[in-house]
Amino acid sequence: MIGKFLWIIDNGHGKATPGKRSPLLDDGRQLLEYEFNRDIVSRLMALMETDGLSSHNLVPEVEGDISLSVRVDRANKMQTPLQKLYLSIHANAAGDEWSNANGIETFCFRFASRSERLAKIFQSNLVTTVGWRDRGVKEADFYVLKYTKMPAILTENGFYSNPDQCGKLLSPEWRDYIAQAHLQAIRETEEAGYNF
Ligand SMILES: [Zn+2]
Repeated sequence: MIGKFLWIIDNGHGKATPGKRSPLLDDGRQLLEYEFNRDIVSRLMALMETDGLSSHNLVPEVEGDISLSVRVDRANKMQTPLQKLYLSIHANAAGDEWSNANGIETFCFRFASRSERLAKIFQSNLVTTVGWRDRGVKEADFYVLKYTKMPAILTENGFYSNPDQCGKLLSPEWRDYIAQAHLQAIRETEEAGYNF
């Protein structure tokens, strides 16, 4: 596939970001969101490379915490002949304790925009491939969605504050489903081209 877009992929949060971790599971394991996000990004970028699609890892750093303003600045200043699209990958939490909240949601800054159309493509592929509850596409004033000068979305791939979903988010098989679902959404967007 010849790609029309440069997919700028943001692995939300750093190792030093406060919180952003699950409670301990009974077996002592814990999900650290920065690690999950980076693992999905690396699985997805490997799949995209096989497909001949263009991606850019916005935050290669693992240590520390690259601020949201630096992330946005890097994306806005990137030079490319392709059209830029911004994809931020996360897992969700409903607080610091275990709770029942679960499922997948995708955010954009404003409805009635290219970002909303992009968000819908991702949300439907994620729900279909991963099979978790569809929480829908939502608007949010998240910094990386508000200040990026390109269509931008943020996927929330399950809740690590839910013990069952947390166990799945730690497993390589489920991580592959989540990466595959993103790849399918990317393929669908590439096929729609500039008209998505
Ligand atoms: Zn997050």
